Amino acid sequence: MGTNITRRDFLNGIALTVGAAMIPPEMWAAAAADLEAQDAPGYYPPAKTGLRGDHTGSFEAMHKVRDGTFWDDAPKPADTGESYDLVVVGGGISGLAAAHYFRQAAGEKARILILENHDDFGGHAKRNEFRAGNRTILGYGGTYSIESPSPYSAVAKALIEELGIDVPSYRNYVAKDLYRSLGLRPRIFFDKEIFGADQLAINPRTTGFDESGVDESAGEAGLRAFLQDAPFSAKAKQDFQRLFRDAKDYFPGLSSEQKKGRLARMSYAQYLIDTVGVSEEIVKLYQTMPHSLFGVGIDAVSAQDAWGLGMPGFDGLKLDPSPGKGMNRDAIRSDEANKYFFHFPDGNATIARLLVRKLVPAAIPGNSATDVVLAKANYSKLDRASSPVRIRLNSTVVKVKHLGDPASAKEVEVTYFSEKKLKTVRAANCILACWHVVIPYLAPELPDKQKEALASSQKVPLLYTNVLLRNWTSFQKLSANTIYAPGMYFSATTLDLPVSIGGYQCAKKPEEPIVIHMMKAACKPGRPAREQHRLGRIQLYTTTFETYERNIREQLARILGPGGFDPARDIMEITVNRWPHGYSYEYNSLFDAFWLEGGELPCVVARQRFGRIAIANSDADAYAYTDCAIDQAYRAVQELKK
Ligand SMILES: Cc1cc2nc3c(=O)[nH]c(=O)nc-3n(C[C@H](O)[C@H](O)[C@H](O)COP(=O)(O)OP(=O)(O)OC[C@H]3O[C@@H](n4cnc5c(N)ncnc54)[C@H](O)[C@@H]3O)c2cc1C
Repeated sequence: MGTNITRRDFLNGIALTVGAAMIPPEMWAAAAADLEAQDAPGYYPPAKTGLRGDHTGSFEAMHKVRDGTFWDDAPKPADTGESYDLVVVGGGISGLAAAHYFRQAAGEKARILILENHDDFGGHAKRNEFRAGNRTILGYGGTYSIESPSPYSAVAKALIEELGIDVPSYRNYVAKDLYRSLGLRPRIFFDKEIFGADQLAINPRTTGFDESGVDESAGEAGLRAFLQDAPFSAKAKQDFQRLFRDAKDYFPGLSSEQKKGRLARMSYAQYLIDTVGVSEEIVKLYQTMPHSLFGVGIDAVSAQDAWGLGMPGFDGLKLDPSPGKGMNRDAIRSDEANKYFFHFPDGNATIARLLVRKLVPAAIPGNSATDVVLAKANYSKLDRASSPVRIRLNSTVVKVKHLGDPASAKEVEVTYFSEKKLKTVRAANCILACWHVVIPYLAPELPDKQKEALASSQKVPLLYTNVLLRNWTSFQKLSANTIYAPGMYFSATTLDLPVSIGGYQCAKKPEEPIVIHMMKAACKPGRPAREQHRLGRIQLYTTTFETYERNIREQLARILGPGGFDPARDIMEITVNRWPHGYSYEYNSLFDAFWLEGGELPCVVARQRFGRIAIANSDADAYAYTDCAIDQAYRAVQELKK
């Protein structure tokens, strides 16, 4: 069990058809109509519960554009008369950072408009807020933490520092030993449908990384305890010990590089079955282990990446510890990167909020990276004509085009859909910081080769669910702080990381309310990764909140019931953040030949500047991390300066 469970505790073509037939035509207009205006009294999206993430009203217009039906019955665009130095499409961290860098380059008076199709800014860096009595309880609806398998670049680090975040001070805020001091340990839930019995066992961490501040290593004693509890056959128990303890060289006569080359071309599941020869029970145990990192299971993760992640079975190969060709960057860890970790109670939504505070100071009170945690954003200030930077929510950009020949045009026209109306603005520059997969539909004037590369950037569908519980005494009774459940709807359930900062207090006693996090990667094992993501995306868009809720209740009752948990009594609120367009697609040596063969990377082709339009977003370097979103924003702004 070498890998953590959450990400930290932790992955077509142009004819996109995802969900094409699944959105009833009338739904988009109705949904858009339901969206409140961002300056309406009481407008405060972080406190909304139910189905969040890609919420109703955020995606329907764009899906109609994709399906080619949007323009059939679209209202005539109205010219707002507004003109900007820069329009940014997408209010995620990349879009916000792009606005910041542009302002640094062009001066404080530069007029910038950020258009975002969701009701909140931050993109994947989403804040979920709950109330329990007089307390505000925060959760991360997407981006969990400042972390990256590779060290942050000088550019990204400088921005983090400029925002006032002192990464080394994290240790002052996290109650690192809290759960351990209460006897809580990572556990595995075996379910009877797959393993023959419902059983909670210790998670025997024998290798791997631990950056969360929660020591999860159980060593040899943990392995023994696991073998005692796991509902495994005698053969599976033997195989399991062999997997950890044997140091057999399965590829004798090959050099380390040759071995890595082989491992890059076979899945970890294949390696376990065909090379190591372990029983099927072990493969089932590990199947969903990489979900939080890759969004797919071990059927679609290469054995080389599994080796990089510290999964068992490779000791005897004596591989050179440096990364192998075609290794996914998620699987390449560096000590320097491991140390650069910071988890705010709302995850990296704090970074988004600090950026917004810089861009539109009136919208978020306070002046430090700690007081921002409890600061209440005033959404009515985000889009004021008096402010040089404006952030316009609930606005889906449907067209971006140069006014004249792209090679010489001085302006672009941006058309967006908001409040059931089509509106246009003009800008001297435009940065597309939205998902690459939508860009070919927005900007058909881009070269075909670039559009093809943009469209290949599939997103990884994920479900990040926050459940507010009245207390966590059941976790204490079962001695669990995280529960890996390979056969259940959600493969990971985790108590909130105990961080108190800026006046915010985490739950320290099991009798206190807490937010727990439940993660699901929507995928279809056995198919190529992109196909799994496509099918998973449809699943997330077509599943109702009621179904999610039922699964949450059933799963928690089943796992925590023996600890006294009662869903009707103990669940106070649920926020399901669905991310059908989640992580940026990272190249996979099993399915992307160019990744091994050293061909041109699609993300490089995709991100080229075109006339007055530059392209940012973490898709621009095929790397699903905040530092990438920042680096790509910086690059896009530099390109516009040329
Ligand atoms: C669930 C989840 C957990 C993650 N956890 C971590 C983590 O712990 N640490 C880490 O470093 N990284 C993490 N990541 C990755 C990280 O969040 C991203 O790399 C980064 O935040 C992406 O920022 P972005 O601005 O490039 O894209 P996004 O955040 O996706 O922002 C792009 C925005 O553009 C908007 N948009 C799209 N189309 C349009 C349109 N037509 N008009 C207007 N707006 C549009 C989108 O709705 C979105 O809000 C996570 C990602 C996900 C999905």
